[in-house]
Amino acid sequence: MTESESETQSADGNEPQATTESPPESTEDERPWTPAPEENRTDPADAFGVLGNEVRMAALRALVDAEAEGDDSLAFSDLFEATPAGDTAGFSYHLRQLTDHFVRKTEGGYALTYAGREIARAIRAGTYTDSVDFDPIAVDDPCPFCGEERLEARGEDNYVAVECGACGRPTLTLPFPPGGHRAHDPEGLLTAFDRHHRHRLSLMADGVCPECSAPAEARVDYRDADDGPDETRRPQVRFDCERCGCRLRSPVTLAVLEHPAVISFYHDHGDDVRERPLWNVGEEWRERVVSEEPWCVRVSTKIDGEVLALFVAANLDVVTVRRTTASASAS
Ligand SMILES: [Zn+2]
Ligand SMILES: [Zn+2]
Repeated sequence: MTESESETQSADGNEPQATTESPPESTEDERPWTPAPEENRTDPADAFGVLGNEVRMAALRALVDAEAEGDDSLAFSDLFEATPAGDTAGFSYHLRQLTDHFVRKTEGGYALTYAGREIARAIRAGTYTDSVDFDPIAVDDPCPFCGEERLEARGEDNYVAVECGACGRPTLTLPFPPGGHRAHDPEGLLTAFDRHHRHRLSLMADGVCPECSAPAEARVDYRDADDGPDETRRPQVRFDCERCGCRLRSPVTLAVLEHPAVISFYHDHGDDVRERPLWNVGEEWRERVVSEEPWCVRVSTKIDGEVLALFVAANLDVVTVRRTTASASAS
């Protein structure tokens, strides 16, 4: 299957009036760029079919363990000894099933291909085999809905839910790889969970899918569940990757939290906004839909009487930034 890979752009073509960037012009290099590199595809059923065998699993595991120790390849004999194979003839047969898709022959023996490395790391980390639950742990941040002093985080089948014990409202529920669950203590786990999703969101906001690296498209819209009167409907940003189906829904505020104007605004006021967890970035934030045609959402925050307002277009571009003292602004 081939797909034409297009640049991420506004989903609905509604361009804000004052765009900040002009289209790129390639003047220094006249060579045409090839957007569709050669793609060879193995049938997924064939690729995954050869993995269902303990000798082959052990071989992949041995190769990734060797990589972790600094050896990019293993000799046939070392690889044979690392598996439960009974004899070298039988082992040769299993190794042939893995080459060339997961393992490739090198001068010194055998090494992992890209696909082999991805699978072997996932095996090591338990990504496809482990399911982690954990009892509620206290989160030292207030509930963004009712102001309750502490939230709770709970793990169920590799999903983490951050909830409020007082009002019962979930602030977010997101997946977290089992390897991450196992490797951190409770406090470290929550920090890692926050960072993990912050960077995924940031990558999506940069137009790159965190799962497959294909273009991710951002579109500002109302939340699905919002069907009340217009003035109570809240905006959100939808990120979608057409290639792998990865999708993410987020408040607009979270998607612009790492904009340079936001980072510097907080820095100027002696604060680091990147320290704010995703489940509560601060009660000082506001969102308001200014216009639907074209889309414009005003996202604002206020510290020490100063207001920072970002005007966000349909494709998540921050079109205008304003800093004003509170008395001069109607926040
Ligand atoms: Zn609450
Ligand atoms: Zn993707």
